Amino acid sequence: MVKNIECEICGTRINKIFITKVEGVILRLCEECSKYGMIINIINKGEKRKIDVKNSLDEEEYELVEDYQKLIEEARKKMNISIEELAKRIGEKESLIRKVERGEIRPSDNLIEKLEKILKVKLKEKINYKFDKKEERKEKLRIADVVEIKE
Ligand SMILES: [Zn+2]
Repeated sequence: MVKNIECEICGTRINKIFITKVEGVILRLCEECSKYGMIINIINKGEKRKIDVKNSLDEEEYELVEDYQKLIEEARKKMNISIEELAKRIGEKESLIRKVERGEIRPSDNLIEKLEKILKVKLKEKINYKFDKKEERKEKLRIADVVEIKE
């Protein structure tokens, strides 16, 4: 169960938490502020956390990296194999891999594992909710500045 949480940009109490990556920093934002970054997860307060990555621990959560498509494509090209060949090696449909590389489909846990293994890349990253207080304030200020400029 998620406790009362305020949006880390505008301070609004939020029921639906948009875990958003803004300039490389993971923030918990309201829907409105989530547009300043890339949404990586949405958590509904009161509901069980919906984390679609298997190996999430109590305080550690893993999510797909932002530029997974690029990583997959680059790693595949480095190995000098076609999408067709890659698909064959991991026993998946070529069309699926193509969509994943275009960012149209988020790969499943199972697929992520297979891709990480064969391409030797890390496609998941740890989400760290615990910020150093000072750092957090600094980041907040920085983001507030950015938001102001944008408005
Ligand atoms: Zn907000």
